Amino acid sequence: MKYYEIQNRILDVYDACGIQAFPFDCHKVLEHYGYRIFTYQQLRETNYRLYCYCCRLSDDAFHYKDLKIVAYDETKLWQRIRFSLMHELGHIILEHTEETPQTEHEANYFASHILVPRMAVYYSGCRNKESIAELFDISLSAAELALDDYKIWYERASKHMSPLDRRMYLHFYNPASKSFVYHVEECFWCCAPVYNFSTKHYSDLDICPKCMIRQIHAKGAVYEQQRHTDEARRRIQIWEEQEVP
Ligand SMILES: [Zn+2]
Ligand SMILES: [Zn+2]
Repeated sequence: MKYYEIQNRILDVYDACGIQAFPFDCHKVLEHYGYRIFTYQQLRETNYRLYCYCCRLSDDAFHYKDLKIVAYDETKLWQRIRFSLMHELGHIILEHTEETPQTEHEANYFASHILVPRMAVYYSGCRNKESIAELFDISLSAAELALDDYKIWYERASKHMSPLDRRMYLHFYNPASKSFVYHVEECFWCCAPVYNFSTKHYSDLDICPKCMIRQIHAKGAVYEQQRHTDEARRRIQIWEEQEVP
């Protein structure tokens, strides 16, 4: 299968599941396609024969099309589990019927690109594997591969935007923020959506567009909350009064 086609299928998944930012909930995506998700521990208790079968097939995760089941090894690192779940989704979406080096490669390609679209790397400004791993909630090794591939993507996309790039851009373009959105968090103070800002990446410049209060690092949150609560309440009140027609 052509990689262009795999990327188109990924965009179909974004459309179907309403994925508008990263990281997204991998469980929900599989559930959207009618799959039930179990841990190996749960499977061991409920269907021992199936458990033995899946252990023979895979260390990390496994899907069984007829029963619409996905199971994963819960003892693995969470970021690795996310990749494994999207690898299984890749097999499902790409309608693989057998496991070959080629289908394995395609499923890995699918997982890497659905979790970390290279265009989102560009707009996020993440240029090292640590920041990519943190923002997109993937392992460092997966982030390293995505970063290497991002550089190749950038070389090409900076000269020519393909119809696929265009589709990706339009999918994540948010009219409210007038920008490509790769991450959404609720404002710490008023719960309004704050686009393209992660509390893990502290910056003085990130102001909530609704209450106009600077977002704070999660670690310092409790301390700073005391200082800002009154101000937040006052500003929200002013804002709400302005909104009343
Ligand atoms: Zn596989
Ligand atoms: Zn706010």
